[in-house]
Amino acid sequence: METYNIDKIRADFPILKREVNGKPLVYLDNGATTQKPVSVINSIAHYYSDMNSNVHRGVHYLSQISTDAFEVTRRKIQFFINAPEDRQVIITKGTTDSINLVATCYGRAFIQEGEEIILSAMEHHSNIVPWQMLCDEKGCKIRVIPMNDKGELDMDAYRGLFNERTKLVAVTYVSNALGTINPVKEMISIAHAHGAVVLVDAAQAIQHIQVDVQGLDVDFLAFSGHKMYGPTGVGVLYGKEELLNAMPPYQGGGDMIKDVTFEKTTYNDLPFKFEAGTPNIEAGICLNEAIDYISSIGLAHIEAYEHELLAYTQEKLSQIPGIRFIGTADQKCSVISFIIEGTHPYDVGVILDKLGIAVRTGHHCAQPVMDRFGIPGTIRVSLALYNTKEDIDILIAGIQRAVNMLV
Ligand code: PMP
Repeated sequence: METYNIDKIRADFPILKREVNGKPLVYLDNGATTQKPVSVINSIAHYYSDMNSNVHRGVHYLSQISTDAFEVTRRKIQFFINAPEDRQVIITKGTTDSINLVATCYGRAFIQEGEEIILSAMEHHSNIVPWQMLCDEKGCKIRVIPMNDKGELDMDAYRGLFNERTKLVAVTYVSNALGTINPVKEMISIAHAHGAVVLVDAAQAIQHIQVDVQGLDVDFLAFSGHKMYGPTGVGVLYGKEELLNAMPPYQGGGDMIKDVTFEKTTYNDLPFKFEAGTPNIEAGICLNEAIDYISSIGLAHIEAYEHELLAYTQEKLSQIPGIRFIGTADQKCSVISFIIEGTHPYDVGVILDKLGIAVRTGHHCAQPVMDRFGIPGTIRVSLALYNTKEDIDILIAGIQRAVNMLV
């Protein structure tokens, strides 16, 4: 692809130059977290050496510039996901924090005993456990959308799960264990026809495909900064304004109030109502650089490049004897999960590590997916915008070596 200057892109990520166990690093664990471009790394140092001050508080110069920079990120996110207003962008600690916020604030107020929540069979634990905790507290119930052997959701079964008790659907856009891209737009419209609200977990989508909250008509959307080339400890909850306004906050403290007396407190307006206490200021500010980085390449280019790389990886892996892919959906991105006959994923992972190759092994915080396929775990290769066919060739040679040693 002419527009995609992979050498320049790789040069932007200092860590890709390092060695691991005496071998050049091949980083294929991007689903867990992505590496950071130099612009993000420098902006963290710049924040502490030039701007450090608390936000939304002081009248003094440093507090004003850090507040302005924090709010610039909020508007950057607004445009990135096409949110109508910046106050609909709540800055959180990450996807997990965002989902817990909705499960607690929306769930406690609007989901009652005997009512139902629909989840999919391929959710990350962070989109299961908060709903289970709500069910324990409120006596509501979880129903699960099954999937087929390719790792695609059964849409007929999904339609059949709705009834007058259904209140909410929480589904991942892209599965971190299988790579499946779910038809979330269609799923949202089905849920809305039944009067249910929808939370989409976009943790594995936001860095790979264009996410448009108005186009999707999604009610809540969650994602993490660290999986999109930004810092850890920051993430986003987008919500429809009428829902966010109707939800009471669950964390009290500074920033989220208008007036406090010992008799009564009035809460602040959006987005601050849900942002109690000092946020992760530098991460919030520096997420701006990460979004700029993605935008400078363009998600359409990233998507096309990664799609080609995914096809290359699948084709090369399929030549390894005894390989079984877990997750072969027609619509996939970035993730390839597999097992190799006669080997344990962990053993393969350890041998690859000795060769400087980072992959993830295990259940990927999606144990129900592993149970569905009757396996304890997989080897997971997850791609990012800086990976290359050479990375994949090194991976394949490494797997072949591991197979020779283990089988
Ligand atoms: N959902 C999905 C689909 C994920 O892949 C992850 C991270 N692996 C999470 C949620 C949780 O994200 P975080 O740990 O950044 O809160």
